Amino acid sequence: SFNLTPKDAEKMNGQKNGESSQRGQWNSLSIQEQRQTLPAYQCRHRILQEIRRSDTLLIMGETGSGKTTQMPQFLYEAGYANRGMIAVTQPRRVAAITVAKRVSQEMGCTLGDTVGFTVRFEDCTSKATKIRFITDGCLLREAISDRLLKNYSVVLLDEVHERTINTDVLFGIVRDAQRQRKQTNMTPLKIIVTSATMDIDHFGKYFGVRGMYLEGRTYPVKVFHAKEPQSDYLHACLVTIFDIHRNAPANHDILVFLTGQEEIDAMVQQIRMIEKANNLNAPTLRVFPLYSQLPQNKQLECFIPSAPNSRKVILATNIAETSITIPGIRYVVDGGFVKRRVYDPQTGMESLKVVRISQAQSWQRCGRAGREADGCCYRTYTRSEMEGLRKMPTPEILRSNITSVVLQLLALGIDCKTFDFLDKPSATSIENAYQQLQQLGAIKSAKSPELTALGRRMALFPLDPRYSKLLLISPEYSCVDEILSIVALLSGENIFCTSAEKREQAALAHAKFESKYGDHLTILNVYKAFQKTEKFKLWCHDNFLNSRNLLYARDVRNQLQEICTKCGIQSTSCGTKYDSVRKCLIAGLFNNIAELQRDSFYLTLTSRQRAKIHPSSVLCGKSRWSYVIFTELVSTERNFLRAVTAIEPEWIGEVVPHYPHLSRIQCNNTNTT
Ligand code: ADP
Ligand code: MG
Repeated sequence: SFNLTPKDAEKMNGQKNGESSQRGQWNSLSIQEQRQTLPAYQCRHRILQEIRRSDTLLIMGETGSGKTTQMPQFLYEAGYANRGMIAVTQPRRVAAITVAKRVSQEMGCTLGDTVGFTVRFEDCTSKATKIRFITDGCLLREAISDRLLKNYSVVLLDEVHERTINTDVLFGIVRDAQRQRKQTNMTPLKIIVTSATMDIDHFGKYFGVRGMYLEGRTYPVKVFHAKEPQSDYLHACLVTIFDIHRNAPANHDILVFLTGQEEIDAMVQQIRMIEKANNLNAPTLRVFPLYSQLPQNKQLECFIPSAPNSRKVILATNIAETSITIPGIRYVVDGGFVKRRVYDPQTGMESLKVVRISQAQSWQRCGRAGREADGCCYRTYTRSEMEGLRKMPTPEILRSNITSVVLQLLALGIDCKTFDFLDKPSATSIENAYQQLQQLGAIKSAKSPELTALGRRMALFPLDPRYSKLLLISPEYSCVDEILSIVALLSGENIFCTSAEKREQAALAHAKFESKYGDHLTILNVYKAFQKTEKFKLWCHDNFLNSRNLLYARDVRNQLQEICTKCGIQSTSCGTKYDSVRKCLIAGLFNNIAELQRDSFYLTLTSRQRAKIHPSSVLCGKSRWSYVIFTELVSTERNFLRAVTAIEPEWIGEVVPHYPHLSRIQCNNTNTT
């Protein structure tokens, strides 16, 4: 059982005693008055003074102190945007969009005008744009054609504590750009690096400057730990939510940290059911999910203050840890886990895993409860479990497949073996990346990496190199149109709607599109049908499809097609000869082949992992093919292959003659259905 006592309470370090809640007053403040209460605003003269003095500035401040929303406005008001734009990088797409919206609101202008955003496949900026919120990935891509970042007068690298690969690499790129611009007497490039309260020394050493700390006000947060280790953190969270709900005053909102979409959606349903079934003597409970795949309008819903005598519960991923600040939170329930991309350089396999958070994250989460008044944080792990957590999260570059970024660096003319990384990836990891690029044909030899013509074209696409390869090779299989659709669909979010109430109807509707060969062809069937319909909104509704995600895929497809045209690739279609598509998939995803075992598990050939087909796949529990190709390996308690297509074993040697595991493939196997 899950048992918390106030005796377990402890105070967070370094916090000042706060005054009582100012929440009522907060709601009635105008947007300008709200701005002025932020710690960043109070420090604005000091910040501007420091910026005038030095070309690079490090700023550290509590989440919610106004770094992201205020700094760009100070710079703009001080005239820094007169000779170039102010770029503000964001590791997360959602953050770039919501923050751009907020800042344009504060400045009283239309989004896309003075303030805009640029994220992959979506550009909401114009000639008039002065402040551009841009994902780190997009700015890195821009650097390929403009190494000196001539469009910008200031680059603000925001949320650097997230340590995404792209931000890590941008560190080196912007520092070089600054140096070179200085040497050639161009407009100087100001660099501002902002971080939540973590490890600023590391960044300071890299840039050779000292950091500045934004004094911010936070209120004390009482921390409760689970008394005993919990076998089911989800259950523990649920119990805690209702415990708080029954006892806390109305309008004291709850923020719950979980790991991902499926988990969050399931708990949203559970909470609604429990509330409906029990006549609780408590305020009205409104539940909001918050994760990056959620449609934007849904994401913004949780910012709306709760109505009188009600309570918000927000179930979020670590997106709410530092990138997004939600007003009204007084309680935090921390599940203690996070979904992470992990990479095994030995096997070269990348997968999504649910892992324990770090202590730094644990304190960040806790701090979300003390933004506006005293708060409480419930941890579903024990104090000694907390002490056993690693201090800091590992930077992404040390736990990911870096093939994509190595390709981009090569396109920038940089060999990553000599690049000055903030944290250098391991030699094995770099070796693997070169090896994969060689297998894909992007470089001639892993020894002296230099891009081939194919490699240079691969770098033009804002895609994983495996997907770029698929597009570039598709003319050989006469299926350019089909691969364009598939890659576009894989670049977006799930197009299938699932409905808890109408599960059977939805399944029936989806069955019409099903291909017996698997998921890639199934989504292709959907897309082809979608292209033919006129009243697509109604059609999507009737077929339980997500119209927004399909429209997004169409948009992405158009953009990819433009790049293909620039590469001289003309449209071709294989019609219904889908074998060409299945073969073509092997050309890019050859490292993701899995073989059926006697015990009905699949064994991935490159990384030797045992896995089942993911329940969301059309191949799950149906015909059992001897060989399949998969898009992604997901590990929770078990390994799952997601987005899977059946292939014929004899094709493998035909498509990738140098495939290292060819000798193991048994071509005489027939499918067991
Ligand atoms: P930081 O970058 O330092 O974490 P931000 O600049 O993102 O802080 O946020 C400053 C404050 O602005 C937050 O405390 C929050 O109250 C408010 N805020 C930010 N975004 C929104 C939004 N979309 N809606 C309402 N308030 C917001
Ligand atoms: Mg921020």
